[in-house]
Amino acid sequence: MSKYEINELYDHTQGAFHLKNLLTDLGERSVYDAAAQCNRCGYCETVCPTYMLTGRETISARGRNQFLRMLIEGRVRDAEIAVESFGTCLLCGACSSACYAKVPTPDLVLEGRRSRDGYGRNFMAGVAVNLLLNNRAFFEFWLKAAFLLKKLGFARLAGLAGLYDFLGLPALNAAQGALESAPLKFLRDIFNEDQALSPKGKKTISWAYFAPCGPNYIFPEVGLASVALLKRFRGEGVFADNFCCGLIAYNYGRITEAREFAKKNILRFEELKTAFGDFDVAADCSSCAAFMKAYEQLFTDDENWRPRAAAFAGAVKDILEVIDAEQVTRRGAAGRTTYHDSCRACHGQDIRKEPRAVIKKLAGEDFAELPESDWCCGGAGAYAFTQPALSRGVLDRKIRNIASIRAGTVVVGATSCLLQINAGLKEKYPSAKAVHFSVFVDGMTKNDNRV
Ligand code: SF4
Ligand code: SF4
Repeated sequence: MSKYEINELYDHTQGAFHLKNLLTDLGERSVYDAAAQCNRCGYCETVCPTYMLTGRETISARGRNQFLRMLIEGRVRDAEIAVESFGTCLLCGACSSACYAKVPTPDLVLEGRRSRDGYGRNFMAGVAVNLLLNNRAFFEFWLKAAFLLKKLGFARLAGLAGLYDFLGLPALNAAQGALESAPLKFLRDIFNEDQALSPKGKKTISWAYFAPCGPNYIFPEVGLASVALLKRFRGEGVFADNFCCGLIAYNYGRITEAREFAKKNILRFEELKTAFGDFDVAADCSSCAAFMKAYEQLFTDDENWRPRAAAFAGAVKDILEVIDAEQVTRRGAAGRTTYHDSCRACHGQDIRKEPRAVIKKLAGEDFAELPESDWCCGGAGAYAFTQPALSRGVLDRKIRNIASIRAGTVVVGATSCLLQINAGLKEKYPSAKAVHFSVFVDGMTKNDNRV
C-alpha cells in the first residue's frame, strides 16, 4: 500500500461541508496554509488540556494540526486515530492563545471533524436544526414537552425526544439540579410580550439584546439579568427577537444551515440599523458572542453576504464587555468570589480584564484570583457526553482550583460553563456555586442609585 494513497476522508472543495478559507490573525488563508503555519514548536502543548491530562501527542494541538495537514495531503493511514484526535478536542482555543504562529487550531479541528463521512448527518440533529431554523414554534413546543416530561420525572422519555443530545444538553443529566429549574416559558416569550423592549415608539437605541439558546431555553434568569443591566447602565434598547446564532449547527458540521441562521440574524440587524442607526448587539453567552464576531468566516466566498456579516460582527458585544467598572459601586458582602475565564471569552475574544474589573470592584477584598482561571471546565457543548473520561479529568482540575481558594461564588460568562461547573461543584465541593456574570452583577447593583 502506498504511503501517499488518495485519502477519501477529506475533500475540501465541498463548500457545503467545508470552509473555503479561514480568517486567521495573519490574514485570510486556505485551510491547508493555515495548518501549515504550524512550525511544531510545541508551545501549545503546555496549555492544551487533553495533552496535559494524557501526555499523548496525537491528542495535542500540535498533533491535531499535523493530522489535518496529513488529511489534506492524503497521508493519514489510520483513520481511527485521526477521528479520535479531532473528536477529543475541546475547541477551547488555549492553544491558539499560546501560539506565536497564530495557528487557528479549533477551526482546523472542525474542518477535520467535518471530513468524516456522515459527520453532522445524524437524523434527529437534522430535524432539530431544520425546525429551529424554519419552524421555531414547533421546535419550542417539542422542547417544552421534553422539559415537562423531565419535570414530571420521565427523564428517559425526555432523552428519547432527542433534543438533549442536539443542544449539547446531555450534561443536564449530570446536573439534575439545573434541570429542575428548566423553564416552561422561554425568554423570547417573555421579551416579546414586554412593550418596554419593543422597537415601537423608540427613536434611538444603544443596544439590542440577543438571546442565545442557553439563556433563552434553559436559563431565562440570565437573560432577564442581562437586560436589567443593559437598561441600568446602557440606556434605551430593544429585544433583537433573534434566531439561534448558528453555532450548534456549525459545530455539528452543518455549515449550510449555520449560514442560514447567520443570514436571518444579519437581516434582523439590518432592519434595526435602518430604523435606529448604530447600536450594540449584546449577547450573554461567550460561545455565541465569539461565533457571531466571526460570522464573516462563513461567507468568504460570497461577495454579497461577506460585508454584511462583517458589519453585523462589528456590532456584537459580549455582555462581559459592555459594563464599565467605573459605573458600579460596591453594595454589600459578596462572600469569597472568583472568576472563571470561559474559553470563548478569553481565547475566543480576548476578554479578560473587563469582567474582572467589574467583579473586583463589586466584591472588593472578597475577590480571589482563581488559579489557572482560563483552564477549560470540560463542558464544551456535548463534550461531557461524548468524552466523559476526559471531560471529568478537565472538570476535576477546575474544581480543585476553586476549592484551593475556598471560593463560594464562581462567576462565569458562558452557559455551558454554568452547567458543567455547577455539576462538578455539586458533586465535589457543594459549598460553592457558579453564577453567570449578569446574575452576579445585577444582584450586586440592584439597589444602585442609578436604577
Ligand atoms: S500550533 Fe502553534 S504553538 Fe503549537 S506547535 Fe504549532 S506553531 Fe507551535
Ligand atoms: S482547542 Fe483546546 S483541546 Fe483543542 S487542541 Fe487547542 S488547547 Fe487542545
